[in-house]
Amino acid sequence: MSEKGKIVVISAPSGCGKSTIINSILGTGELPLRFSVSATNRAPRQGEQDGVNYHFLTTDQFRDAIAAGEFVEWEQVYPGRYYGTLRSELTNAIEKGENIILDIDVNGALNVKKQFGDRAITIFILPPDIDTLQKRLEKRGTDAPEVIAERIGKARYEIDHAPQFDLRIVNDDLPVAVAATESAISSFLHKPVCPKAE
Ligand code: 5GP
Repeated sequence: MSEKGKIVVISAPSGCGKSTIINSILGTGELPLRFSVSATNRAPRQGEQDGVNYHFLTTDQFRDAIAAGEFVEWEQVYPGRYYGTLRSELTNAIEKGENIILDIDVNGALNVKKQFGDRAITIFILPPDIDTLQKRLEKRGTDAPEVIAERIGKARYEIDHAPQFDLRIVNDDLPVAVAATESAISSFLHKPVCPKAE
């Protein structure tokens, strides 16, 4: 069996509980996983720390990093807002045998899968349905109605891509979704990677 590490990619529309699921899996410490800290040019939110939640770059620094080939993948997830997975976070860690978990958007996830094949698993977290997602976003109270409308539009686009993921998990009941995600990741980490596939 190869001793290289593996990549777990989680995507979901905003409001589907993706961060909560990832944090609770990392919090138990039962799975040997390290969070990949992405780079972005968006401003830090309250409580976010540089190098912990994201590597916060200026737009110029982000463009320079693109030009220098420092990203495994990058996307303009929202107009003018760039996000990318740094080679230094991913490739080096895998070579060292570390397993990495990525919280990235749908296009980034499919891009990583294309590059890493069987070494990566893509998991899509789905809401029970769009109405439930809309109610969750409204209840969260952090977004204006037009922002919620924009997020719902984006969610429809993202959900259309769910069939291209290796696995889909519906977050209807949070503990159930966490357990299902944890168990899927555990099986994936234990499965040998076929050397011919790389
Ligand atoms: P937020 O600004 O709310 O932290 O993240 C917005 C979106 O960007 C989320 O869907 C998140 O998964 C995505 N994202 C975060 N980091 C990356 C990355 O490195 N690459 C890509 N493609 N998307 C990312």
